[in-house]
Amino acid sequence: RAKSAGSGQFARYDPQMHSGLVERLQLAADLRRALETGGELEMHYQPTIELRTGQIVGFEALVRWRHPVRGMISPADFIPLAESTGLIRPLGQWVLAESCRQAVAWGMGAPERAMTMAVNVSGRQFDQPGLPGIVAAVLAETGLPAQRLCLEMTESVLMTDTEENLAVLLSLKDIGVRLAIDDFGTGYSSLAYLRRFPVDTLKIDRSFVERLSGATPDAALARTIVQLGQSLGMATVAEGIEQYAQFLALRRMGCDLAQGYYFSRPLPAAEAGLLLQDHKPAVAA
Ligand code: C2E
Ligand code: MG
Ligand code: MG
Ligand code: MG
Repeated sequence: RAKSAGSGQFARYDPQMHSGLVERLQLAADLRRALETGGELEMHYQPTIELRTGQIVGFEALVRWRHPVRGMISPADFIPLAESTGLIRPLGQWVLAESCRQAVAWGMGAPERAMTMAVNVSGRQFDQPGLPGIVAAVLAETGLPAQRLCLEMTESVLMTDTEENLAVLLSLKDIGVRLAIDDFGTGYSSLAYLRRFPVDTLKIDRSFVERLSGATPDAALARTIVQLGQSLGMATVAEGIEQYAQFLALRRMGCDLAQGYYFSRPLPAAEAGLLLQDHKPAVAA
């Protein structure tokens, strides 16, 4: 590794930096190819559980990339790459179509299996002018009723350019889809906007669930978010429940729904489908 040169000078050669850039360019080219050919990308599905009853009430769709050389690449690594290269739009459209198609294949369009398929929408997808049109087209093509689809956007995306975002949220709401704020509590929400946003669900970030267990459990923040959701008329979902103690604490607080390894990891479609087979269908909402 090249030592950094004296002040005002650039290091002559930094092999780490070089390989980082080359690697990113290579990975972007690989992702473009993967999107064209299909096959390397797949969706996994993590069930959402109603805390009061233990029923599965839906799934969150989480994209996976099985790279032929590098193996599984985490979305935490390739979603930012897709965003910076513009590939997030075709990727996001594929994710949306595939998740809606899967939801219909599982019978989620039928009133006797009234479940929700939640799909993540990243910042640059949310900014694209045609998003509501794309969502409406995918629903029409797949035949999934709009109220069975929930779009998740992170708090930090929603709380920048709030006026513009409000307009996008309203046109998505016009289509009839549900809307969720993901990773809630990690950004800086304006309570005034939170009230104006036509959002159905707050997803409590995993960091607050983590605080519910361990040597010095701290429930204050999770409880505050659950109460905030309740007073705004929004459903609350706890992310990342791994332990029985966390499950109990959140149920006691009146949190509505939960996801986490305690119930199930995200699963390939075939395995998630098995969960549904021996599951009593929920009553239509
Ligand atoms: P997210 O939407 O907040 O998704 C939750 C993440 O937490 C997922 O990671 C999930 O596998 C993980 N998780 C679930 N339960 C537990 C648990 O009990 N413990 C722990 N430690 N983790 C748990 P994943 O699948 O790696 O996704 C990471 C992030 O990448 C997502 O965070 C989301 O922001 C983004 N992402 C994933 N799939 C998509 C996609 O299809 N489109 C877009 N735009 N973003 C996606
Ligand atoms: Mg999410
Ligand atoms: Mg989240
Ligand atoms: Mg997250």
